[in-house]
Amino acid sequence: MREINVSEIENTVRDLCIKANLYLPEDMEECIRRGAEAEKSFAGKNVFDDIIENIRVAKDETIPICQDCGMAVIFMDIGQDVHFVGGSLSEAINKGVARGYTEGRLRCSIVSDPLERVNTGDNTPAVVHTRIVEGEQVFITVAPKGFGSENMSQLKMMTPSVTADEIVDWVVGVCAAAGSNPCPPIVIGVGIGGDFEKCAYLAKKALCRSVSIRNPKPLYAELEKKMLEKINRLGIGPQGFGGTQTCLAVNIEEAPTHIAGLPVSVNVGCHVTRHAGAAL
Ligand code: SF4
Repeated sequence: MREINVSEIENTVRDLCIKANLYLPEDMEECIRRGAEAEKSFAGKNVFDDIIENIRVAKDETIPICQDCGMAVIFMDIGQDVHFVGGSLSEAINKGVARGYTEGRLRCSIVSDPLERVNTGDNTPAVVHTRIVEGEQVFITVAPKGFGSENMSQLKMMTPSVTADEIVDWVVGVCAAAGSNPCPPIVIGVGIGGDFEKCAYLAKKALCRSVSIRNPKPLYAELEKKMLEKINRLGIGPQGFGGTQTCLAVNIEEAPTHIAGLPVSVNVGCHVTRHAGAAL
């Protein structure tokens, strides 16, 4: 049994909140550069120039890539041979988020109650997804999620009779309805299967996968390709100014489901689809 002091979790979460908000993952930045080269519209190319300049300024001046520093979504893979010591794990995670957002001068966007809407002032509480895995390691991913894109996300409980093409068309329709709201070029996370909540979780998790890695199953990799092509034929373009590069990548995550259902979810990510991870 390996002991990990929760202060290590707090410090790691703090650092990851700052890192994720200042630096895009390398593959995401590379994908944006490829999109800029491929973009056919003049206005779209100009938007890409601004996006690339914005990424540079964020790095050089250590300021957030976007004014919306997101809700702190945290995925933790916890080895079953780990024992946390030194206090509450949950409190340590939220202390890490609070320190990351206040010490990193990141915008705090969380309200303590959905109807009373009072800002908590330190971006807590985080949304935390834990998974128990084999081994004695902990892997933490912090994925700050802006709500311009989150608000465009949808879930549909489909029936098993639905065809793959109908799923593709529904996903494309979600992107069409989103238009310029999620700050395109977008990244799309798609969840297929599970139950109601697992399906939404899969779509969010899909946004944390590298944009350059396709689903390992050919069936789903083909669907990712089809969706990407069709979304890009919508012509929404960078920031909605029209163009060929509305979407940079579609990542699908699938899971077993019930014989009577076929849940499908779309979590829309913007051109600032951020995540940073660390192993302890
Ligand atoms: S959708 Fe993304 S790029 Fe647009 S404001 Fe929100 S976090 Fe920023």
